Amino acid sequence: MTRKSLNVTDAVYDYLLSVSLKEPEILRQCREETARLPLARMQIAPEQGQFFQFLIQSLQVKTAIEVGVFTGYSSLAIALALPADGTLIACDHDPEVTRLAQQYWEAAGVSDRIELRLGPALQTLDDLLAKGQTEQFDFAFIDADKPEYIDYYERLLRLVRRGGVIAIDNVLWYGQPADPGCHDQDTEAIRRFNTYLFKDSRVRTSLIPMADGITLALKK
Ligand code: SAH
Ligand code: CA
Repeated sequence: MTRKSLNVTDAVYDYLLSVSLKEPEILRQCREETARLPLARMQIAPEQGQFFQFLIQSLQVKTAIEVGVFTGYSSLAIALALPADGTLIACDHDPEVTRLAQQYWEAAGVSDRIELRLGPALQTLDDLLAKGQTEQFDFAFIDADKPEYIDYYERLLRLVRRGGVIAIDNVLWYGQPADPGCHDQDTEAIRRFNTYLFKDSRVRTSLIPMADGITLALKK
């Protein structure tokens, strides 16, 4: 049997991209513009965007929620894979970075599919629940502040339908959760979240060691 994932060296990674990545020009522009910002490493990897598009089309997603928009790469990838009458509710509390995201949505012609909700994401999710949106969503992506991951997850598990999927980013957090000497707040939060999900019988899960680690949780 294969004991573990292949060690993805730079050469293997370049090869993987060369035979699989089909990144639309607008996504490439967003990635290159974001690369100049100090927090660029928060952005998902391009092959991850393509993977989400694959998931969205295979699950026939029409309604999605994203928690953590930043400059718009992941939201744009999601929106481009939705049908023309699909919708993405995009949650972030930063009006500056999301201005850039909005420019990309416009340029890509998908701004009519995306609804930006500016403010604390937990509040936005609570508002959706209060408005009776329970089980109305097919797909959700969690990628905001790590200490609130469990709280986002609990709300999204109610908002997503049975058979819907919640994808969670950074679950391997630069490898730090596996380092027993590492106890910073974000690492502890990711450890807590991973253990929480592992014990949760309401979902079927898979942890994929792509990019910084992605867990997929399918609501039973
Ligand atoms: N998914 C994005 C990256 C998100 S980075 C991409 O792939 O490009 C994390 C984002 O979460 C930041 O833009 C930050 O403003 C936002 N964020 C952090 N805490 C938040 C909170 N409590 N409510 C809403 N947004 C939050
Ligand atoms: Ca991330």
